[in-house]
Amino acid sequence: MTTIIAIDGPAAAGKGTLARRLAAALGYDYLDTGLIYRAVGMNLARAGIDPADIVKAEAAAQALQPNDLAATDLRNDEAAQAASKVAVIPGVRAALLDFQRLFAAQPPGGQGAVLDGRDIGTVVCPQAPIKLFVTASLEKRAERRLKELLDRGLEAIPSTVLADMRERDERDSKRAVAPLVPADDAFVLDTSDLDADQAFTAAVAFIRSRI
Ligand code: C5P
Repeated sequence: MTTIIAIDGPAAAGKGTLARRLAAALGYDYLDTGLIYRAVGMNLARAGIDPADIVKAEAAAQALQPNDLAATDLRNDEAAQAASKVAVIPGVRAALLDFQRLFAAQPPGGQGAVLDGRDIGTVVCPQAPIKLFVTASLEKRAERRLKELLDRGLEAIPSTVLADMRERDERDSKRAVAPLVPADDAFVLDTSDLDADQAFTAAVAFIRSRI
């Protein structure tokens, strides 16, 4: 049996950075599950289809190819919004479950898997022995996202970034299926006042206490 580390939390809380670092340190494989939802959303948006169209979104999720995750436009804000729209559709979530579970059970390197997302510890891999819920205040997360966008040379308006993040938080937390909530046995790591190194150190201490 491979070890699974489940990392959930809202956008820009630092879970991707942490997940990547943990995977590298442990020699585990990493899956960014947000990318899967982004790919489904953008396959629709690029074709001029509303990502909230239930029938078309379900078909797009079923037709998703591993190659689609390599698209270069998945990191932008349009992709984030499209992802959170397809992510409320139960049929889309169901179609993407097998892909995620297979990766967790049989990671390419065979050692272990780190998955990050919104529902890894609660729905995708509730049996994971290590669960982290990485969070931070809305303001801190919006600040980080703004910096990230500006560093990438993109235009960004602070009030718009904050509003978009609040809207996505609401949609992710209030949806009926697999809403964003910490699993009962998750270690909640608030990174509002931590840098990446401090978050990594805290996560490692928790993992050591579990394995
Ligand atoms: O993590 P990321 O910002 O890339 O996720 C984009 C969107 O995909 C989230 O806002 C959420 O709506 C959806 N998502 C999800 N379940 C996951 C991962 C992402 O619903 N496991």
